[in-house]
Amino acid sequence: MKETTLNDLLRDELKDLYNAEQQMVKALPKMAKAADSGDLQAAFEEHLTQTKGHVERLEQAFDLMGVPARGKKCQAMHGLIEEGKELIAEGLSDTVLDAGLIGAAQKVEHYEIAAYGTARTHASLLGLSELADLLEQTLEEEKQTDAKLSELAGDINVAAEAPSNGRSKRVRVTA
Ligand code: FE
Ligand code: FE
Repeated sequence: MKETTLNDLLRDELKDLYNAEQQMVKALPKMAKAADSGDLQAAFEEHLTQTKGHVERLEQAFDLMGVPARGKKCQAMHGLIEEGKELIAEGLSDTVLDAGLIGAAQKVEHYEIAAYGTARTHASLLGLSELADLLEQTLEEEKQTDAKLSELAGDINVAAEAPSNGRSKRVRVTA
């Protein structure tokens, strides 16, 4: 699509995000189901609730722009989710799969952080401060989720590295 103004570009960015978030509403329950760690499952479930809120915020964003809420397939999110599915299908042991799932989820969060950061900046440049604030709120939640996943990785990645990488061999990182 040919962009004529920054406003058109922002509208396209919102469409991409709207579809990306909807893809994640479907993918997160599958990731939670595939996770072995209770903490990781809880993190995915918590982020599912947040993600549904992100969809709603984007609906408010379309409203603020005076355009209908409509998505456009986000190929990047599709690719990231496909890679996650491939990982789940690999038949990895519990903790190794958990370590992989954290990596897959962080790739998604980083994509969202980049996309929301860009859209937020474009909204600011256009003087759409209410819209910029909405996008900023979601951006903060994506950053917090990324940080939470990094924290969980401190425990789970060490367990995945243990010789038998079984549940009983889990090692806590204390230092
Ligand atoms: Fe999101
Ligand atoms: Fe997210």
